[in-house]
Amino acid sequence: MALIVQKYGGTSVGTPERIQAVAEKIMRYRDQGNRLVVVVSAMSGETDRLLGLAAAMSDRPAPRELDVLLATGEQTTIALLSMALETRGCTARSYTGAQVHILTDAAHNKARIREIDAKRVTKDLDDGHVVVVAGFQGVDDRGNITTLGRGGSDTTAVALAAALKADECQIFTDVDGVYTTDPRVEPDARRLERITFEEMLEMASLGSKVLQIRAVEFAGKYNVPLRVLSSFEDGEGTLITYEDEGMEQALISGIAFNRDEAKLTALGVPDQPGIAHLILGPIANANIEVDMIIQNMAPDGKTTDFTFTVHRNDYRRALETLQKVAGDLGAKQVVGDDRIVKISLVGVGMRSHAGIASTMFETLAKEGINIRMISTSEIKVSVVVDEKYLELGVRALHEAFQLDQAITA
Ligand code: ASP
Ligand code: MG
Repeated sequence: MALIVQKYGGTSVGTPERIQAVAEKIMRYRDQGNRLVVVVSAMSGETDRLLGLAAAMSDRPAPRELDVLLATGEQTTIALLSMALETRGCTARSYTGAQVHILTDAAHNKARIREIDAKRVTKDLDDGHVVVVAGFQGVDDRGNITTLGRGGSDTTAVALAAALKADECQIFTDVDGVYTTDPRVEPDARRLERITFEEMLEMASLGSKVLQIRAVEFAGKYNVPLRVLSSFEDGEGTLITYEDEGMEQALISGIAFNRDEAKLTALGVPDQPGIAHLILGPIANANIEVDMIIQNMAPDGKTTDFTFTVHRNDYRRALETLQKVAGDLGAKQVVGDDRIVKISLVGVGMRSHAGIASTMFETLAKEGINIRMISTSEIKVSVVVDEKYLELGVRALHEAFQLDQAITA
């Protein structure tokens, strides 16, 4: 008998009919002899609707009260799903986060889970119930309701799976797994049977929005096997685990991309100690996250160019901030471009292989795509290119690395 934690997202429970379909699915898993804990999101659109109501009361609703409000979305779903299960003769018990002691810190609207006391859940499982838990919410040590930040139900599911030492945490969503790249850009994209936590983290932080990043981190930390599957179709989905020694490892697992990039350059800044800090300090103080950073050698020994990328939403603010410091530094000019994108190859297999980056550059060159910036890590090569080359670049790389073909061990 396996213990499985399943999570169904907002779309999967978006209508009464879909909740009924989820109940049927849960019963099939139960009938196979599994013990089940089910975490649900609010019905799709509900959290946004609640945020809208709050906005009608105040420009800046009290964070504590916002959590009281938002938690009702998930509370509705646990009750409805449990009713649907009970009607089908499957005993179920629904619980809010507080009721199953999902203890968090007191940071309202973005709380972090500290501890879960799994006794109540275990007792119900022993009694033969399906346990249905509200995602996205917890309680602080003073009894206040907290929420975990948008998309937080994934984290609830993984945390419960870790606390219960579940055999698997299954995330049911509207796609049937993790793909080699976005199928909307490359129709030949292939569903991966498995991917490592490390790769998944890279894919998620680079814009593949299948799973919440925090949930993947959590699963990696506690070694919870995580599976992404479709709510609407049967299938194996994608399993996210640690690297399996015995398995043939693909060089590249996927191509991630991010359209929300912008870059800024200060031209002709003095080549002296402390300059990087003088430039990026004010950017950090303005709460702007910086991604890639490039500083060139000073050809004349005196001045150099300094380039970095930020989220496109922060571009204007970053430009203003940089213009100010550049003036103080005596830089020649500040230039920027917010029509750029980042394309990244991700794969743990590249650790032990040379030549991945050069194949990437060759492929892009053949398509006449100019590379503006490059950065690498152990399991990733990223390039910044003009926005208009995104689709072409992704498709060319997908083909060059034969990602449409499964590796045969
Ligand atoms: N209902 C919350 C949201 O929409 C949490 C979740 O769906 O995971 O962000
Ligand atoms: Mg969601």
